[in-house]
Amino acid sequence: SDASSAFDLVVIGSGPGGYVCAIKAAQLGLKVAVVEKRKTYGGTCLNVGCIPSKALLHASEMFEEANHSFAKLGIKVSPELDLPAMLAHKDTTVKQNVDGIAFLFKKNKITGIIGTGRIAAPGAVEVTAEDGSKQTLKTKSICIATGSVVAGIPGLNVAFDGKTIVSSDDAIALPKVPERLVVVGGGVIGLELGSVWQRLGAKVTVVEYLDKILGPTDAEISTQFQKILAKQGMTFHLGAKVTAVESTGSAAKVTFEPAKGGEAQTLEADVVLVATGRKPFTDGLGLDEVGVARDKAGRVEIDAHYKTNVDGIYAIGDVVKGPMLAHKAEDEGVALAEILAGQHGHVNYGVIPSVVYTSPEIASVGLTEEELKAAGTPYNTGKFSFTANGRARAMLHTDGFVKILADKATDKVLGVHIMGFGAGDMIAEAAVLMEFGGSSEDLARTCHAHPTMSEAVREAAFATFAKPIHS
Ligand code: FAD
Repeated sequence: SDASSAFDLVVIGSGPGGYVCAIKAAQLGLKVAVVEKRKTYGGTCLNVGCIPSKALLHASEMFEEANHSFAKLGIKVSPELDLPAMLAHKDTTVKQNVDGIAFLFKKNKITGIIGTGRIAAPGAVEVTAEDGSKQTLKTKSICIATGSVVAGIPGLNVAFDGKTIVSSDDAIALPKVPERLVVVGGGVIGLELGSVWQRLGAKVTVVEYLDKILGPTDAEISTQFQKILAKQGMTFHLGAKVTAVESTGSAAKVTFEPAKGGEAQTLEADVVLVATGRKPFTDGLGLDEVGVARDKAGRVEIDAHYKTNVDGIYAIGDVVKGPMLAHKAEDEGVALAEILAGQHGHVNYGVIPSVVYTSPEIASVGLTEEELKAAGTPYNTGKFSFTANGRARAMLHTDGFVKILADKATDKVLGVHIMGFGAGDMIAEAAVLMEFGGSSEDLARTCHAHPTMSEAVREAAFATFAKPIHS
């Protein structure tokens, strides 16, 4: 064991929360180590989450465009799917990104250690390497950034076999396109990966417990979005409670009944993707032994400065409360590093954008109409459709609209919801506006380049307090 290595900070887990916290802390002059049990750094996001899914979403979207849009643009092609090459593109993208983290660790003089971390005591992290050898790292502070894992279906014991019954971990690497794919869970991950395989030729059926897809998303957007997905060929069973997911060897079956009660139905599929959410991961960390408190959902409890109930032990990212998003984890990582360096780290939880990378994309920041109504806040709504946007027409991407919700009395923007091509990038200007407490008039009076999709954001802002020009 190596007791001489005294660190200011040992981070357990190298996902977007952990690696960003480590880099920021090192930049601020702290001596930092990161412990990661995977063979590569980057956590769920870089290895099996955000990055591989976006590589496949982009590639499959290009395939879809080649099949259905190119001819309208005057390009004749006969596209043919080369799935091994598409998966290789995804693997290369992942490798570039995880190697990038290893490079950044070196550049910032961070000690990266591959092994499983356990908190032996406050100020001591025991690391077990793959060969079983152990070392103990002495440190002033410990950051728990161990993230989340697939949750499964509440109340059901789902027997994932990685072939016929899969989680997102395997759905980013199916060796062939399933003829029939049933997705249990109509949330972000299910709809994104369902879209990938549908574009590549699968017949996709989504079974969702709630009465709407995309849970907390603005209801007007999720209703219209479901129609668009249905036009793309997806089938939906909403308000459906799954009671069994069984493999029959070469295929699988999903049984469900109306959530309100009624007759059960069974669907057969070549692959069933169970995408019903993720749960915080703290197994083997030794939290009970050192007395770190968790809530009912298994999340590590923290105060407003990311400190647990035990001095010197902090937690960030998917393993604590809040939305399970990479950029939320990153921002917490920066804030914690700043706090540990004696600065005033802070995250504005009111302005965390969320994006669904389907076609069209969906992006939102701030409050939904449903939330404003529930809070009794009077608001104005400004909307603008991409069908009236020149650039959207030129690109054959006219699906969707922008909706801005602003305080009735002050015009301060309270929420922005965009469905459309590139919505994930367009939402950034709304986030900046809201971070500065801006009004819809501030946005509308900001010159926007022509012709761009973001002109629709400006037009929706005009529509909030006055009238848009182009409708
Ligand atoms: P994680 O990324 O989960 O990293 C935790 C790391 O800790 C893991 O590498 C794990 O191996 C390691 N670890 C755990 N225990 C130990 C231990 N005892 N010792 C050592 N190491 C340990 N979010 C977005 O914002 N945008 C997206 O587009 C997006 N797409 C997604 C797509 C999919 C398919 C999935 C599954 C998730 C997606 N997410 C997306 C969510 C995003 O991946 C998570 O919010 C993010 O990774 C959380 O970061 P984290 O650092 O908290 O934890």
